[in-house]
Amino acid sequence: MTASDLTRLTAVEAVAEIERGDVAPSELFEAYRAAALDEDLNAYLWVAEGPPAQSPPDGAPLAGVPLAVKDLFCTEGVPSQAASKILEGYRPPYTASVVARLAAAGAPLLGKTNQDEFAMGSSNENSAFGPVLNPWDRTRVPGGSSGGSAAAVAAGSAPWALGTDTGGSIRQPAALCGIVGLKPTYGTVSRYGMIAFASSLDQAGPLTRDVSDAALLLRHMVGRDARDSTSVGFPGAVGTPTAERLDGIRLGVPEELVGEGSGVEPGVLAAFNATLELAEELGASVETCRLPHAPHALSAYYVIAPAEASSNLARFDGVRYGLRVEDGGLVGMYTKTRSRGFGAEVKRRIMLGTYSLSSGYYDAYYGRAQRVRTKISADFRAAFENFDFVVTPTSPSVAFELGSKTDDPLAMYLNDFCTVPMSLAGIPAISIPNGLSEGLPTGFQMAGPAFSENRILDAAFALEQAIGFDHSGARSAA
Ligand code: GLN
Repeated sequence: MTASDLTRLTAVEAVAEIERGDVAPSELFEAYRAAALDEDLNAYLWVAEGPPAQSPPDGAPLAGVPLAVKDLFCTEGVPSQAASKILEGYRPPYTASVVARLAAAGAPLLGKTNQDEFAMGSSNENSAFGPVLNPWDRTRVPGGSSGGSAAAVAAGSAPWALGTDTGGSIRQPAALCGIVGLKPTYGTVSRYGMIAFASSLDQAGPLTRDVSDAALLLRHMVGRDARDSTSVGFPGAVGTPTAERLDGIRLGVPEELVGEGSGVEPGVLAAFNATLELAEELGASVETCRLPHAPHALSAYYVIAPAEASSNLARFDGVRYGLRVEDGGLVGMYTKTRSRGFGAEVKRRIMLGTYSLSSGYYDAYYGRAQRVRTKISADFRAAFENFDFVVTPTSPSVAFELGSKTDDPLAMYLNDFCTVPMSLAGIPAISIPNGLSEGLPTGFQMAGPAFSENRILDAAFALEQAIGFDHSGARSAA
């Protein structure tokens, strides 16, 4: 096989080729390493110097298929900067549990991918190391914050990748790049070694070319970890999706997110509705459902996430890691380090979070946002009494032009209108490629109750076959 044939295989196909003895793991690794070194989307911040010293143990389920990892996962001895100047050059002394788990299952580290700084953003333009370009159209954003992971997988410089999702950062870039992204149930994947943004929301998940690859990667990610007290593991095992039909599946379309005035672009809505028709042809029923508090999700999220961020980011003070700007005294050193090290969006969030947590405003903002969060969870619980899944377009728009929203934080935040509610509720949700609008990918989002990943993957698999998305647009633009 030529290098370009190798990098066209899905991860599941690559595992099969290796198991048959037709492809050597080192050959596959080299093909991807060359592609990652060669890529011109700015998707990678670091690429492995060579294949791993040891070949994967015999029978390792992931067989040596390499993995691209979002920069914010700590990887021992390898730069782990959360795309921030304040962590420039930081090489941690340990590896995040989920990365270690995947390496042990036979998925060695290929490279670290670009992202929005500390995962704050929806376009990857908040990276201290420059934006990532969308492989479908290099004048546009790949989405964010896991933009590097999504662009690398879409363009074929990684077979699959890890991202994190706090309010949509796996699903939205997956949608904008035409790949699959899954945010698992909160607690199923260990957060140990993930550089924290908002701890009650952050969750790692797979970005892959198809649903089968997402299931395979997730299978080896989940599990309880004694080093993360919020990790609960996954009941049973993540299976291999095989469904061809959706008979008896009830899909709920939330009026509050998709109905009139929700701001979903006409082309994105048309693609969404076409997939609902396909779902009906496969045997599903489609009805409107209600999530009465969902319109308040963004506001609650933009109180809770910055509050947690302001606390998590207090540790970056020039004393322990990364950048230190000396200024004679201690307080001056703190101040200069933080003002030079953090980008504008990160500073905005720290200020918002510090304000809403201050004693005079705590009840009015943080307390109220938490009450809204509880109501949103209850809305989903009520919806799941009558529906198997809640479905929406993943993002209200296709990939937008670089620079078009950087001066308007509120317009940027609206990207997450349809993804934030699931994050607040801690429930799993997938985005699958859903055809094009104006020549650019759109995403179809399906969310289910906590721990329903197997059912979500099965239904997504059936839909994926019916949609028959053509990925080639991300490659031919190169
Ligand atoms: N875009 C959202 C934000 O900026 C979500 C980010 C994420 O999920 N990490 O906070």
